[in-house]
Amino acid sequence: MTPLARLLMQRIRDGGPISIADYMAECLLHPVHGYYTTREPFGAAGDFITAPEISQMFGELFGLALAQAWIDQGAPGAFTLAEAGPGRGTLMADILRATRAVPGFQAVARVVLVEASPRLRALQARALAPSGVTPLWLDRVEDLPEAPLFLIANEFLDALPIRQFQLGPDGWRERLVGLAEGRLAFGLSDPLAKVPDTPAFQTAPTGSVVEDCAPARHAVAAIAARIARHGGLGLLIDYGGWRSQGDTLQALHDHAFDNPLAHPGEADLTAHVDFEPLAALAPAYVFDAQGAVLERLGIAARAEQLARSMTGDALESHLAAHRRLTHPEEMGSLFKVLALTRAAAPLPPGFEA
Ligand code: SAH
Repeated sequence: MTPLARLLMQRIRDGGPISIADYMAECLLHPVHGYYTTREPFGAAGDFITAPEISQMFGELFGLALAQAWIDQGAPGAFTLAEAGPGRGTLMADILRATRAVPGFQAVARVVLVEASPRLRALQARALAPSGVTPLWLDRVEDLPEAPLFLIANEFLDALPIRQFQLGPDGWRERLVGLAEGRLAFGLSDPLAKVPDTPAFQTAPTGSVVEDCAPARHAVAAIAARIARHGGLGLLIDYGGWRSQGDTLQALHDHAFDNPLAHPGEADLTAHVDFEPLAALAPAYVFDAQGAVLERLGIAARAEQLARSMTGDALESHLAAHRRLTHPEEMGSLFKVLALTRAAAPLPPGFEA
């Protein structure tokens, strides 16, 4: 049993079952035992590998897309270049390297990283050191400055705590984490008078589980509000789909799926992102699969250019990385890009028909 499991069981004995959102928040960000507070989850040695860690092409292409959008919007001065949930800082480091040659871009950019984990902030500082840029760290997306906002977030929304609801013959109940036979176990609340007001709840058939991520809605509303007021572009990249897909809570431990209740604090916990209620918060948006967006941003040409100076194992792994980012059976179609824009703004790069 993990130390956090013991703490959570005591909390449940004292105060009753907790929501899945409370469980997730404790598992990921508990100050002493949380997964992101104690571990280095990313990369080959960790529990999972993310797109920016797979290849520098990911950050280069999305960085240039943000810079192009900034140019298309008239190169506003004093803008925010932000990333939410930067992990090891690789994506922002690649963005800064790729956009160094874009005239004026970095000179007027205020680089902001939204990161809750002090441990990861230290890694991000190290990753950004070669760029010479000193970022501002914020705890919450809601605290982003009032300025034009060019923001990227990869696998950030999937880490925000979800609640789960289940529709039975007598109405909606919330799935909770309680105790059974001396272990953590899922259970159900009494029927609820009220559930969140998003489309999935209105159309769900009896028996279905619907997820709701209020922190994601609040974060996206804050991003959308800045873009509506000042212009900009928000690129939200994550796995998920359009409309809640039932129970998608998953735990990853040592590159393998794990029971979400088995190793609290020692496994990564995520849920698929339900993009529909998030898109509805933006003045305008476009939505497509990661593979299609990277193709339109020119990943084939960039991959070929990089391949020219490679041989042997490096070339093999570069070709595999290209495939992994774009192929429909790899990350190409499971991962989506939701681009938030101002109403009547030019179509963002990577979304042209
Ligand atoms: N974008 C990175 C890392 C994704 S992991 C990559 O693609 O490799 C999720 C990141 O979000 C971590 O940096 C984690 O510490 C951060 N995070 C998770 N929950 C958060 C929250 N509520 N507020 C701010 N950051 C959070």
